[in-house]
Amino acid sequence: MEDYRWEYHLVQDSQKNAWCMPGGKILFYTGILDVAANADGITTIMGHEVAHALLDHGGQRMTISLAQQGLNIVALKATENQLEKKRKAILTAYGLGSTIGAVLPFSRKHEKEADHIGLELMAIARYNPEEAPKLWERMKATSGGKAPPDFEYPSV
Ligand SMILES: [Zn+2]
Repeated sequence: MEDYRWEYHLVQDSQKNAWCMPGGKILFYTGILDVAANADGITTIMGHEVAHALLDHGGQRMTISLAQQGLNIVALKATENQLEKKRKAILTAYGLGSTIGAVLPFSRKHEKEADHIGLELMAIARYNPEEAPKLWERMKATSGGKAPPDFEYPSV
């Protein structure tokens, strides 16, 4: 944990969101506090964000994103001499493949991991992990019954 510099910031903003950056910088918007409702709710969100940082999800995501940019350049180069129609087909197939095939499942996997580790952190800190589902229900209710909005670190 020596490379981590934990920082916690509360920003006056109506967004119901929180996120973390690689290395331990965590940001809460005041808008999420109403949904958090109590200390257990805040700890559910905080545990989730700290878990993202501990698991270096931001850093991994950055690496994947850079790798994808690199591959895109390779794909563009590799198809340079192809007929325009074929080239478009290849790039479209590649583009869909790289987005749906790599980014989305990767992100969901990270969210699941962050939820899991977040609950353990809550328990270690002597908060009640059994309150976590109630927080997710409140999040769901405020977003009009859709899946709970994700506590996302900004995409790179
Ligand atoms: Zn998350």
